[in-house]
Amino acid sequence: MDPRTQAIHAGTEPNEHGAVAEPIYRTSTYSFDSIADSQERAEQMRTGHGSAYFYSRLGNPTNSALERRLAVLEHAEAAVVTGAGMGAISSVMWTFLKSGDHLIADTALYGETHGLFADFLTKFGVEVEFIDLTDLSALAAALRPQTAMVYLESPCNPTMKINDIAGIAEEVHAHDPATRVVVDNTFASPYLQNPLLLGADLVVHSMTKYLGGHSDVVAGCVCGGVEDIAWLRYTGIARATGAVLAADSAYLALRGIATLPVRMEAHCDNAERIAAWLVASPHVAAVHYPGLATHPGHEIAARQMRRFGGMLAVDLNLGQEQTMAFVDALRLARIAVSLGGVETLVEHPAGMTHQSLAPEQLAAAGIAPSLLRFSIGIEDVDDLIADLEQAFAAALRTA
Ligand SMILES: *Cc1c(COP(=O)(O)O)cnc(C)c1O
Repeated sequence: MDPRTQAIHAGTEPNEHGAVAEPIYRTSTYSFDSIADSQERAEQMRTGHGSAYFYSRLGNPTNSALERRLAVLEHAEAAVVTGAGMGAISSVMWTFLKSGDHLIADTALYGETHGLFADFLTKFGVEVEFIDLTDLSALAAALRPQTAMVYLESPCNPTMKINDIAGIAEEVHAHDPATRVVVDNTFASPYLQNPLLLGADLVVHSMTKYLGGHSDVVAGCVCGGVEDIAWLRYTGIARATGAVLAADSAYLALRGIATLPVRMEAHCDNAERIAAWLVASPHVAAVHYPGLATHPGHEIAARQMRRFGGMLAVDLNLGQEQTMAFVDALRLARIAVSLGGVETLVEHPAGMTHQSLAPEQLAAAGIAPSLLRFSIGIEDVDDLIADLEQAFAAALRTA
């Protein structure tokens, strides 16, 4: 079925009252008829047969409905939900890496992911190597017998760098089919891109962003093969991280996902229009949007994505002070980190999300002091453009 249908119906199962909205099972534990019953249900739970529940760190019916829906949308055998995107990423690391392993990660990563790899995994004897994965020959040269995982995002924050997921997966699996390729698919959402269909082994999401879609829930998930997901659930999450999602939050994510396809189409429509408008503005030096033919990743994005998404970055032709004045003058676009909600947000990477980077690291990541990142919302696009227009006028008055 079409994703617009799956986003609404996939994963739902009949409940005894015929409730159309998914019930929220606000319970930590489940009772049994007898000790023998408890043992039988524990076994069913571990083997993934039947819908047995034992304790909510291991599974909850509201979370299960969300997991079934996510698996369908990501073309995965299974999914597990977590208390945040970082809970998903750290649980993957705890589960699938061990001391002595080599992890190759892209240079363009979500800030906390970079911190997890550089500051924490290294403490446990994992060797971490950051390379620019748009360079497939650099990847080929970096792969070793100890390489257990290759980790990437696409599009990447903040300049929307595009990684060739199929090319990377092919290179890695030709070297060793057991090396896991893990893709953070947060910026695209499963509606626009399905890394598992491109050869990746695991997909992680911050559901806080497009999947939730309304800036009202913090949540994450991992999608992949049945065995990997079972291992994650019963070891990485249950025994190590405890990064469990509350059923109330699972409900909000389910409600958000129902409109994911229509929201993503609206995000893409608006971002395309605004990118074109910004390109034509005399106050703009460069627009970073994969939908523009001038973007270095445009062709690969066109191959691996349904459309080009709602995220864009822009280098202004204005000085530091005028850039700040422009941002402060925006009325509809709110100044905030995070992304993927219905409302338009703007942030200043050099001063906000990437503040901890040294000047040379900022330059290497293409983050100029005049770079702004927009999460384009689904408001009326002419209202958004009028807001940009009046903010440019206000910024120029500060000259
Ligand atoms: C926000 C984000 C994360 C972290 O997710 P949380 O839900 O905030 O823990 C990871 N990766 C990307 C690309 C993100 O944007």
